[in-house]
Amino acid sequence: MAVRTPEEFRESLRDNRRVFMYGELVEDVTTHPILKISTDTAAGDFVLAHSEDPAVRDLFVAPHPETGEPISRYFLPPHTPEDLEKRSEMIGQSIRLTGGLPFGKDVGTDALYAIMTTAQRMGKPEYLERARSYLEHLRKNDLNLCGAVTDVKGDRGRPPSQQVHPDYYLHVVDRNKDGIVVRGAKIHITGAPVANDILVLPTRQMREDEGDYSVAFAIPANTKGITMVCRPSRGERGPSEFPAALPVLGLAEAMIIFDDVLIPWERVFMCGEWQYSMLLAYTFATYHRFTGVSYKIPDVELIAGCAVAMAEMNGIERAGHIRAKLVEIAAYVETLKALATAAIKSPVMHGDLAIPNPLITNMAKLHFASRYHEIIKLVQDISGGIISTMPTYLDWQNEELHKRLEHYLGGSPKYTAEERLRMIALTHHVVASAESAYMEVVTVHGEGPMEAQRMMIYAESPLSEYRNLAMAAAGIEPHG
Ligand SMILES: Cc1cc2nc3c(=O)[nH]c(=O)nc-3n(C[C@H](O)[C@H](O)[C@H](O)COP(=O)(O)OP(=O)(O)OC[C@H]3O[C@@H](n4cnc5c(N)ncnc54)[C@H](O)[C@@H]3O)c2cc1C
Repeated sequence: MAVRTPEEFRESLRDNRRVFMYGELVEDVTTHPILKISTDTAAGDFVLAHSEDPAVRDLFVAPHPETGEPISRYFLPPHTPEDLEKRSEMIGQSIRLTGGLPFGKDVGTDALYAIMTTAQRMGKPEYLERARSYLEHLRKNDLNLCGAVTDVKGDRGRPPSQQVHPDYYLHVVDRNKDGIVVRGAKIHITGAPVANDILVLPTRQMREDEGDYSVAFAIPANTKGITMVCRPSRGERGPSEFPAALPVLGLAEAMIIFDDVLIPWERVFMCGEWQYSMLLAYTFATYHRFTGVSYKIPDVELIAGCAVAMAEMNGIERAGHIRAKLVEIAAYVETLKALATAAIKSPVMHGDLAIPNPLITNMAKLHFASRYHEIIKLVQDISGGIISTMPTYLDWQNEELHKRLEHYLGGSPKYTAEERLRMIALTHHVVASAESAYMEVVTVHGEGPMEAQRMMIYAESPLSEYRNLAMAAAGIEPHG
């Protein structure tokens, strides 16, 4: 059993994986100017597992349930509300302590625990056995993962079997004694370029004639036939940007192309059971939206913090309309936290696996996604136009300009002009930059679009109980 060091993790990524960025094959993702940031972000999980602070180490590392050896806590399936609480705390603390979300073992185990739950209900012991043996493999090798669920989908109005070609959804093209051969492309996969293994799940409910699309498996990222095309993103903080306490972090997404990739049978967790594709996608969505809620809490706390700090630095914190806006922002954050706690406290049990309450988890995800842009707008309003127009750090350091910028760019006398400018720079980053626009899209689409949450809320809400109450109050017997 192992808890790898950040260096061992970095070394494991030098494995001849085929990753492209800007049309070029990346030689080494750990040193590439942009993917290095993804590597450092994912390495954050391994840094925390070796933290000098025993409280942090104990949060991220736990004893193996049978052998007692240290393993990543992500590799302990949740059995109780306390386990779900620890999982949520780990995700939140990852962001607070490193400044970026490592986001690998969490999404990977969201997928694996959904696979285990579905295998139990499918009555296929071989799938459950394989999933358990894969979990041991993860524990032993301390692997970083990505969850590849979203297909490229082609025409959204047509199911997989009715597309103009069969490859818009990943599917099985051959089965032999060694395993299955798959073809297709998964898209937007967070952290894929720096994942050791890729976990693949179906993205939607499949029909009777879509057995070949009902497929789930795990495979190393450097397997023959796998090619990744990464989105570009910003590099490290440049000399024109004001310094900050934490480095620039973030994970790049990739489109993963599977060109007839052989998946050994021992890593296949679903193959043909179309009747269970919905259950798998639905259970993954619940686990994963809970992960989304957990990482969003520190994000929105920081955004709220910028609003309060900017109000103070601009000397407007006591103005009536500013207080009203801060109340809205605080209520948004605290409602999210309350929903997360409620989802933890009332899990749904499948066998011995605890799933965060699906109704409340979807309400929490819908809450943060549907109101996020409004909250950003309030922070932009409170902060003033300077979050888009501030001079650069190079201007600030220029001898001729410095004194004048200092003279003119102060706010409340409680803070120096430089402190105000640093807070403006942070606020620019979280509500007025290219990265903040990216975060707005992540909020809407990450963990599934809002309509998907509405569908699950509709399915999980006690609508007939509400109806019966109203019928009883009106003195009517419900029909059916
Ligand atoms: C930054 C980022 C990171 C992500 N990370 C991951 C990841 O790690 N792993 C992963 O698997 N996925 C990931 N995703 C994918 C995410 O789950 C999808 O973006 C999301 O599910 C929406 O799918 P889509 O992008 O194909 O949009 P679309 O499906 O095209 O959705 C666009 C709109 O069309 C609507 N729509 C779609 N189909 C229908 C239909 N049949 N009928 C009516 N309306 C329809 C949707 O409700 C939505 O309003 C990520 C996305 C982003 C933006």
